[in-house]
Amino acid sequence: MSTPNKQTRVAWLQGPAVRCESVPQGDHPPYRLVLLGAPGVGKGTQADLLSQRLGACHLSTGDMFRAAGNCAECEQSPAIQEALVYMRRGELVPDSIVWEMVRERLVCLQCSGGFVLDGFPRTLGQARSLKRLLDEQGIWLTAVVNYDLPIAEIVARLGGRRTCEKCKAVYHLTERPPKAADRCDRCEGKLFQREDDRPESIKVRMEAYERSTAFLIDFYRKSGLLMQVPATGTPDEICQRTVAELEPRRISGFAQKLWAAAEDRR
Ligand code: AMP
Repeated sequence: MSTPNKQTRVAWLQGPAVRCESVPQGDHPPYRLVLLGAPGVGKGTQADLLSQRLGACHLSTGDMFRAAGNCAECEQSPAIQEALVYMRRGELVPDSIVWEMVRERLVCLQCSGGFVLDGFPRTLGQARSLKRLLDEQGIWLTAVVNYDLPIAEIVARLGGRRTCEKCKAVYHLTERPPKAADRCDRCEGKLFQREDDRPESIKVRMEAYERSTAFLIDFYRKSGLLMQVPATGTPDEICQRTVAELEPRRISGFAQKLWAAAEDRR
């Protein structure tokens, strides 16, 4: 396993004009992952943990759009401005814009430290574009990790979430309870439950998620890259489980590519 490094991700967050200060130089094939999972399974947390454990950069397209939107001194291209309109409405950004931004950041996909893609690809079109680009570059994915959790548990997780009206701090009734019921520890603001965290809304969101990712899951299952990981237990346990399943895939994926390259030379 590579030495954990502290990635600044500036090339990803700020775009192709900026280069990361240091790039990990691994002496082994890096981990290149795509993470999938419904809202509430803790995909973002796992992306961070895996990135620390494996030394691969956490590349989130949501973070990329947010960084573009929050950068006061950056000149925003028409594509970014359009993307932000979709994002603020809570809708998916069109594939053409997402792809333009990801392709511009090819250097991050080529990085010798590897990557953990989070939030991308989200559609079959994006998955196909990514595959084409990686094939052209001779880069292969180690695995596509799909975090799996029964819907009842997702409802319990998201349903217990409470947010402070004033400072927006987030609590959980059982996992991270506030000291005083319904009051924020930091500013004493009143805690409320977000409309979309109510059980009825969660079920609707889950169904929409499953409908939209069914094609993606199928695409990656057929390509042999899909790895189902139960998202039960603590974040550390889930991370441990993921890493244990990944290691053999990284080695066997690498061996297969070497073999294929040797075959090509014959
Ligand atoms: P996230 O942080 O992954 O939930 O992304 C936040 C928002 O960014 C989403 O609601 C979308 O508007 C946009 N977004 C992020 N990634 C993608 C993607 N791969 N395709 C389309 N829209 C995306």
